[in-house]
Amino acid sequence: MRAAVLWEIGLPLSVEEVELDPPQDGEIEVAIACSGVCGSDIHQLVGEYALPLPCVLGHEGAGVVERVGPGVTGLAPGDPVVLLWRSPCGRCEFCQAGRPALCSEAAELRQRGVLVGGRSRLRARGKTVHHFLGVSCWAEYAVVPASAAVRIPPGVPPEHAALVGCAVVTGVGAAWNAASLRPGQSVAVFGCGGVGLNVVQGAAAAAAHPVVAVDVQPSKESLARTFGATHFVDGNRPDLVAEVCRLTGGGAEVAFEAVGLPALAEQAVAATRRGGRTVLVGVAPGGTTARFDPQALVQQERAIIGCLYGSCRPAEEIPRLLRMAAAGRLRLQELVSRRYPLAAIGEAVEAMRSGALARVVVDPRA
Ligand SMILES: [Zn+2]
Ligand SMILES: [Zn+2]
Repeated sequence: MRAAVLWEIGLPLSVEEVELDPPQDGEIEVAIACSGVCGSDIHQLVGEYALPLPCVLGHEGAGVVERVGPGVTGLAPGDPVVLLWRSPCGRCEFCQAGRPALCSEAAELRQRGVLVGGRSRLRARGKTVHHFLGVSCWAEYAVVPASAAVRIPPGVPPEHAALVGCAVVTGVGAAWNAASLRPGQSVAVFGCGGVGLNVVQGAAAAAAHPVVAVDVQPSKESLARTFGATHFVDGNRPDLVAEVCRLTGGGAEVAFEAVGLPALAEQAVAATRRGGRTVLVGVAPGGTTARFDPQALVQQERAIIGCLYGSCRPAEEIPRLLRMAAAGRLRLQELVSRRYPLAAIGEAVEAMRSGALARVVVDPRA
């Protein structure tokens, strides 16, 4: 099959023939119909995540089950599925508590770029190629654990299904699950990429008000307003924090950081009011630190919380998000800024790195 391989940091992605092993116990092979280009792919591409190389990138994807390995129940060839980059084991303390994003069983495998059993299913040029976040969907096919796929109804546009698997569930989930937003709460969203725009639409759907969107790209204003932002603040403004505080009448009740930049997290915290909460959604590169005033956190009862993968329960929430989108209650089509064939993956990545777009998607079959 063809796949986009990152051989070394700094080299362009190489679209080439990659061997893919058949699915083993508990695994499925999925014919990829659409993949998104997410910030986490770019973090890995530029060396900020330092996960094993070479690897096939891509972790936001959807497709159709091609074949199933031994012992797989509940999925069959022909089933349309959304792929998950955090596959729950279903058995551990966190899975049992309804917090599958915290499941640690597959985390160690993801760190090593392998699947169950400690081996990769990918090879190219006679060498082992690693999996990225257990998905590796910038490819015509992917082999994943069956637990990393959620079956969806037939007829969902593949672009919508792919984006729900990361950007939508992460952003909307941050607003609904991590922040539990209530009508009328004031919100500020720092960063309006694919995830941030979904925080904005999650906040708007929860009737938060005002919903202040912040981004350094002026082109994001109309996008943010499309997704329900009531105000937009240019992230380059030196008085950014003061302006967000002014628009929210003294600071946001809930602020979200949706990029993964420590400096932006500091600004988000500073833009909350007394008793306010900051939800960190973007995944910052390892080893970075942010500074907060601990006295202010105590005396003003401010909170900072992390939200991974929308703190979601994917099997329940992904079909629900798709139902809401089909009913016009969530915007998915507006997230798709551009489409590329797999052969043009380099252009797709550069387009996303410009920071001016919501999401670009890749069709591995084009
Ligand atoms: Zn992602
Ligand atoms: Zn688990």
